[in-house]
Amino acid sequence: MLPDLERLIHLQEIESKAAVAAKAIAEAPGRIAALDALLQGATTALDTAKHALAENKTRRGLVDKDLAAVQQRQGKYKDQLMQVKTNDEFRAMQHQIDAAAVEVGVQEEKSLINMMEADDINATIKKAAAALKAAQAKVGTERGAIEQDVIVQQGVVTECATARERLVAGLNDKGLIDTFGRIAKVRGTAVARAEGERCTVCQVRLRPAVFVHVLKNDQIVQCDSCNRILYFIPPKPGAPAAPATPDAPVQ
Ligand SMILES: [Zn+2]
Repeated sequence: MLPDLERLIHLQEIESKAAVAAKAIAEAPGRIAALDALLQGATTALDTAKHALAENKTRRGLVDKDLAAVQQRQGKYKDQLMQVKTNDEFRAMQHQIDAAAVEVGVQEEKSLINMMEADDINATIKKAAAALKAAQAKVGTERGAIEQDVIVQQGVVTECATARERLVAGLNDKGLIDTFGRIAKVRGTAVARAEGERCTVCQVRLRPAVFVHVLKNDQIVQCDSCNRILYFIPPKPGAPAAPATPDAPVQ
């Protein structure tokens, strides 16, 4: 194979690897922000539930106070009932006692509703606390993994840059790097494997006169349709259908 063609194939592998690494680095802040949002959401949910419980307790205090007041009034009327002298006074006092009893019933019901609300809120708090704990564990693990991966991927990017420099320096035809760059800019990838008289990336059939040159791998030939630099992997003897190496990475 033409050494420059081999270099360009290798360069494409490096560029694709670097692009994957760069993508992972670029996506890391978004992934970390999503984890932070998850944690924030779980924290807010627990805070909201705790706040609701505090409000419930405040309401409970007011209901208890009202209930105690009306019960006290009720007791006072009952004492007074013993001291009435006339039937009219008795009826009037009885009326007061009945009204107080209704009020006691109302306050007791409010108290019951308040207690049921407290049960619901406590269940919500329990759930929210468990969700927060789970979120903290998830964020702790995943944030660390993302940060570690960024370090690894930064290493990959650096390695790729070094390998790229070495390959470019080794090119016999220095103009090829511009050709490569132009195609990669438009197409994402700059080289393509040819097989069965087709460019395997754009799938367009190659002219026989073009394919003949591609088969030899001894010069730089570009696809008529997508402009990618073409290469050919001869089938292994006895296994004509299987490509000898994987396709050039495709984005
Ligand atoms: Zn093509």
